[in-house]
Parts: sequence; C-alpha cells; structure tokens
Amino acid sequence: KEWCLAIPKIELHAHLNGCIRDSTLLELAEVLGERGEIVFDDVKHVINKYGRTLTECFQLFDLFHILATDHETISRITKEAVEDFAAENVVYLELRTTPKNNETKGMTKRSYLKAVINGLRSVESVNVSFINPNGRTESFYDPLQKGGLTVLEKKRIYVRLLLSIDRRETTAAAMETVSLALEMRELGVVGIDLSGNPIVGEWNSFFPALKYAKEMGLPITLHCGEVANKKEIQAMLDFCPERIGHACFLEDDDWEKAILLKIPIEICLTSNLRTERLSSIDLHHFGKLFKAKHPLVLCTDDTGLFSTSLSNEYHLAATTFGLDKESILQLSTNAIHYVFADNELKKTLREIFQAYDKRLV
Ligand code: IMP
Repeated sequence: KEWCLAIPKIELHAHLNGCIRDSTLLELAEVLGERGEIVFDDVKHVINKYGRTLTECFQLFDLFHILATDHETISRITKEAVEDFAAENVVYLELRTTPKNNETKGMTKRSYLKAVINGLRSVESVNVSFINPNGRTESFYDPLQKGGLTVLEKKRIYVRLLLSIDRRETTAAAMETVSLALEMRELGVVGIDLSGNPIVGEWNSFFPALKYAKEMGLPITLHCGEVANKKEIQAMLDFCPERIGHACFLEDDDWEKAILLKIPIEICLTSNLRTERLSSIDLHHFGKLFKAKHPLVLCTDDTGLFSTSLSNEYHLAATTFGLDKESILQLSTNAIHYVFADNELKKTLREIFQAYDKRLV
C-alpha cells in the first residue's frame, strides 16, 4: 500500500464534486443547517453513510450541489481536491466538472469555471513544494534541477480540466459547455466529458454538442456502458471518443470494436464495486483487458463519495489481479499516453516518471 502511495501517478477520471472531503461537506452542511436552509442531522446521516446504491449516489450529488453552490466554495473544493491528489503523489490530474448556472447565487457556467480556475491558481503557489516526512511544508526546491532527491519529498502536480456535460442537460446547454471549453482552452481546459445519471437522457440530444467539440479538435471522454444500453454503447463506440469511462456493460461485439479501435478505458474499480455494477471485484473486466494489453488507466471517479484514493485503486488492482511492482509502475507510466494535455507536458511527465527512483521506496 505504501509503495502504491509513493509511486508517481496520473489521475484522468475524477469528478470535482465527487472529490469533496467529508470534513468539508460536514462543515458546509453545518453552516447551512444553522441558517435553517437544511436539517443538519439528516444531511450528516447521508454523508456518513457507507455503501450506496447508484440511485443514492446521484441523490447525494444533488445534495453536494446544494452544499457547494457559491463561487467561494467551488474555489475551496477545487483547491482541496488538488492538494489531496498531490499529497498522494498524483503528478498529473485531469479534473472534470460540470459548469453550472445558478441564478440565485449569480452563477453562470462561465463564472463557475472561473471559480474553479481561481481554486487552481491558489494551489499553483505550492505546486513545487516539498513535504517532509511529518507532512509539514518545508521549502520550495526542484530536485530535477539540483540533481537528486533529498530527505524531502517533492510534491509537484500538473492540473488540467475537462468540462462535463450532464446527461440531464438540453442540447443547447451542452453546446454552451463546449463553447466555454473552447474559449477556456488557453486556461487549461483540455477536453469534454459526458457524465451524469446513466439512466437519464438520450444520445441524440448530446450528439450535436459532442460532434461540434470533435470538429473543433477537443478530445472527448464518454461515460460508456455504466448500465446495459446496447444501442447507446454502439453509438458511443461508433463516435470513436479518445477515451471511455467504466465500460461495465459492453457485450462481446462491443469489446471487439473497442479493442479494434484501441479506445483507452478509464477503470474505476471501487466505484464499480460500490455501485454494484458487478458482484465481486475479481470479475471486473480490468483482469481480461490487462492480460490483453488493452490501453487502461486506473482512476478514482469520486474520492469523497467512494472514500477511496488513487493509491488505494492501484493497491486494489495489485492485490486482486496479482500484479507485481513492475507491472503497477508500468500501468501508472502508461497513463501518459492517454492524457489530453499537449506533447510538451507529456514529455515533462515522462521525465518525472524517469526521474523517479524506485530504490528510495
Ligand atoms: P461535478 O461535475 O463537479 O458536479 O461532479 C459531480 C457530477 O459528476 C455528478 O453530478 C455526476 O453528473 C457526475 N458523476 C460523478 N460520478 C459519476 C459516475 O460514476 N457516473 C456518472 N456520472 C458521475
């Protein structure tokens, strides 16, 4: 477990509002409770509950969105999520979030995204910082430049954003998100995600916005096959997205297509287990895809909601599927191929992984 924590890792499938710390959620709920906007005890019970059905997860997201609605809170949860990923040696994070309009808070999709970016900016100052073994920030220092690691462990994280289209949204709202992503490319938005409750919405209503994003050269990742929906899975694979997430309910002919097209798959083991997409983790499609050397990347989905971390996901994969250290490190290094960031950043990531010294672990 410690070894999985120590290796550099890349996170490509993490939803901002699913990564809120429990402590932050409780704090926010307490404030709203004092204001009489919610009943704190009811909310406390829901937040602390372990093990949720898929439906309960989406009910919880609605609650998260009530708790985290103002710009300041959005910046805060972004900052905290990035700090948490950096603390466990995630060196590159593609954080995804659904830009939201909320008239009562004076929030537009654009101002929501700006709040996210403000949160990221507040982390940038500690991007290249070192944490000593007690976890205390000691100094700023670049071991790559000074030729080696000292007792202080370097924490450096690169963050890029994916804008999510929620399956509940109209075509016009989805289009607005794509336009915003195009406008904000210079500020670190690198792609589009389609997510939300998989039993809601129709492929035909998202398709125009996704097609537009593709035409404009924005890479796309789709939540695909979270539930059995043959027609949609086929349409999604025919769309040839740059990546897909979950892929729990693909049938043999769908797998043939995904494998032929070499579509990288974002694997979220704990999430799939907790939302009961499979009865036992050793039956997860990760096993056969890993053996077939299909492009895969281990991800968390929602660290807060599922009480997990990326190190935990690597450890779970290692223990369930019998992967040795070399395979695990290879798995985490391979993720570089599937990031949506530019080649220059990919080169930097390769350097970071090369500089990583296994003997120190
Ligand atoms: P947000 O986009 O930052 O608000 O993150 C929470 C949102 O991510 C939820 O409301 C869902 O739309 C989406 N999401 C999180 N986890 C999942 C999942 O497992 N399947 C589909 N959508 C998800």
